[in-house]
Amino acid sequence: MRHIAIVGSGPAGYYTAEAAQKHWGESVRVDIFDLLPVPFGLIRSGVAPDHQSIKGVSRRYEKVALTENVRFVGNVAVGRDVSVAELQGLYDAVVLATGAPHDRPLGLPGEGLGNVFGSASFVGWYNGHPQYAKAAPDLSGKTALVIGMGNVALDVARILAKTPAEFAGSDIVGHAYEALAQSAIERIVIIGRRGPHQIAMTPKELGELGELERASPVVDPAALPVPEADALLEPGLRKSLAHLRHFAALTEQERAGKSVRIDFAFFTQPLALHGEERVQEVEVERTRLLEGGRAEGTGERLRLPADLVVSCIGYRTSPILGVPYDERAGRFANEEGRIAPGSPSGLYCVGWARRGPTGTIGTNRPDGYAIVERIAEDLDRSPAGADKQGRPGFDALAAERGLDIVTFRDWKKIEEAEERAAREGAPREKFVEIEAMIRAGR
Ligand code: NAP
Repeated sequence: MRHIAIVGSGPAGYYTAEAAQKHWGESVRVDIFDLLPVPFGLIRSGVAPDHQSIKGVSRRYEKVALTENVRFVGNVAVGRDVSVAELQGLYDAVVLATGAPHDRPLGLPGEGLGNVFGSASFVGWYNGHPQYAKAAPDLSGKTALVIGMGNVALDVARILAKTPAEFAGSDIVGHAYEALAQSAIERIVIIGRRGPHQIAMTPKELGELGELERASPVVDPAALPVPEADALLEPGLRKSLAHLRHFAALTEQERAGKSVRIDFAFFTQPLALHGEERVQEVEVERTRLLEGGRAEGTGERLRLPADLVVSCIGYRTSPILGVPYDERAGRFANEEGRIAPGSPSGLYCVGWARRGPTGTIGTNRPDGYAIVERIAEDLDRSPAGADKQGRPGFDALAAERGLDIVTFRDWKKIEEAEERAAREGAPREKFVEIEAMIRAGR
């Protein structure tokens, strides 16, 4: 029997479990640990609440979760309740699938001012992540500034721009739904330090900005390269450029009746945030592109009004005591998912914890399958050692420490309670407090 511990129940964790099942069949037992009493990580707390079709992938993970040889072990903090070294002693392989839940800092003066959020906390707020549910952004100002031109910046801008009616069918949490319904924001400025050809936004998501009820995207035609230059782009980016060109060509008539504008400010890098207690302005510098695609400041500085700032510039994996960490990249130090390769550590990482915060949910599938191949290679090569205890060993440790474990069956009760509490037309109303989740699961 092979015993595998997976730390993190998001996409990378469940794809790894699925791959382990396919590889070892009945001869494997997989325990998936999570800090929260609820599974699915980024699917629940990261994917935008109005993107329910993407969230639907959790049904595939549920199939894996409901099989005999995989179990969910929720409400356990690896690194606090149980150490990685203890898991290594109990399981043949320990796979860190902990994602990248922390914001990459801007590293700019004024970053600590009020009403400045990183995307982890802002997204966590509208998605009801217990850690960020109380973030309470103040939406009473007129202008929001979103830093970064990736898909998270698009999510944030879109959520800020939507009317309550546009949240029909979404699982945006009640506190965010109500706060957004009262929002006074009428201008959202998305700033990017490079140009239209360097955006990290994908076409489908960018196109959604053009279909909003009360908001209209604004692109200065002068900021766009000559149309012929788009021909050299890879197809996805070319489609994104087509959206930007469409936004740039919108007429006043086509914008009539739209009370919110979403401005794209290219070649604009933030330098400092200003305000008294709360942010009021962001000082920016115009940039130009250098050979090789890097941005360089031109020296031209200006201040943009900003009552709310959300920085969407990427994420970092949380370090775990004793696990080698690549500070620069913000993820575990690893070689193709092996942590401390060469030594029989049995420690691996997968998904964002391995490669950093890139790619779509689906990118984690091949990642999960690849790590299982590597684990299998290593296990086949290693001399047969003492049989690891796996589940019974962990259960004994958990009982000794009085850990309050939440199982998948408990989660199904939490899920039912969330479905019962849903506003009309919504799939669920999430619990935003850990204690409330645990109570509902009992
Ligand atoms: P991302 O795609 O890496 O975009 C980050 C953006 O921040 C880039 O425009 C980057 O500009 C900018 N940036 C980075 N450091 C900066 C700095 N110091 N100052 C100013 N700007 C800075 O990251 P993300 O938006 O967080 O998304 C993470 C991953 O999740 C991506 O793979 C994304 O596609 C995926 N995702 C997908 C969906 C979806 O499919 N619906 C939704 C959300 C997220 P440079 O290019 O100049 O570095």
